[in-house]
Amino acid sequence: MDHYTKKQELRVCRKCLLYAENREEFFRKLEAYIANLDEDDRTDQETYEQRLAQCAHCPHLVTDGMCALCGCYVELRAALKVRRCPDTVRKW
Ligand code: SF4
Repeated sequence: MDHYTKKQELRVCRKCLLYAENREEFFRKLEAYIANLDEDDRTDQETYEQRLAQCAHCPHLVTDGMCALCGCYVELRAALKVRRCPDTVRKW
């Protein structure tokens, strides 16, 4: 077994495993988490929608609303005031 193959076998993505276990439950919990964010931490609705509109047309948006650059679910990232788009030229 070469070094690359051995390294690949050791990689485990816990998020993917949780996701694969129960996809609907995972997204239900994610939505509930976003809905229950503290108001001090949460972006206002207008900003949230503007951010998601940028993501919706972005080539880095991949399966299930995940950003390929940071690995975040964009609906969660966009809901947090302190977060920014991770692209080198930020879209929000
Ligand atoms: S966070 Fe930025 S880079 Fe990622 S999908 Fe949204 S707009 Fe694109």
